[in-house]
Formats: sequence, C-alpha cells, structure tokens
Amino acid sequence: MSIPIVDYLVLEPKPHLVAQECTACKAKVFGRHNACPACFNESFAEYEVPTTGILKTFTIVQFAAKGIPVPYTTGIVNCGGMDVAANITGVEAIPENITRGMEVQLATFPLGKDAGGVEAIGFGFEPV
Ligand SMILES: [Zn+2]
Repeated sequence: MSIPIVDYLVLEPKPHLVAQECTACKAKVFGRHNACPACFNESFAEYEVPTTGILKTFTIVQFAAKGIPVPYTTGIVNCGGMDVAANITGVEAIPENITRGMEVQLATFPLGKDAGGVEAIGFGFEPV
C-alpha cells in the first residue's frame, strides 16, 4: 500500500496535485483554509493543478541536516498560474543542468516504508 506524503498529492488514477480555489477571487492555495488569504471569502472549490509547469526560480542546496543527501535542487514551479514549491528531481544538481524557464513535469518517488509495509510517496518536478 502507498500513501502520499501530503494530502494535496493524489496518486490515482495518475499522480497530480489538488489545490483549493477561492470561489470569489480564484486564488489557489494548498491545504485546508477557513478563509481565502486574498479576499477572506469562505468557500472553495477543488482545483486540479496542471502536472507540467515552468521553473520560475531555484537554488541548489549544498548544506542540509544530517542524513539529507546534498547537493539537491529546490525551486518554485509555475503550473498554469499557480506557484508550487518543490524539489527538482531527475537531474543532477549542478548549475549547468538547471535553468530558469525550463519546462518540468510532476514526478513521484518512494520515500520509505513503515514497519507495516506502508510506503510513503513524495513528489517533485523533473525536466520534460
Ligand atoms: Zn479569494
């Protein structure tokens, strides 16, 4: 059995992200909110985030907490107008490989299993 690492990652039928869209101003946010952070409206609809986007900005992380392999790339991906923070996967984390404006797509990967064999699934974006 597999479970997504965050509630807004949906694995079936194809992995994708689901945001909440304000019914008044169309602002999009991840996770549960009592009110829209942009206009205070209290009603939301589900919004399926496009699985491809453009890398808006990034940084290559060289130092991290013990046990986290470095270097790795993290960035902001613009998916159809919504910014998503995620790691950039599937490409070596060197400046020659990664550019602002590059096209990327959602990618999922196993993070590990618990004692009961349940596997946690994470997400990132990889070059198209
Ligand atoms: Zn709003």
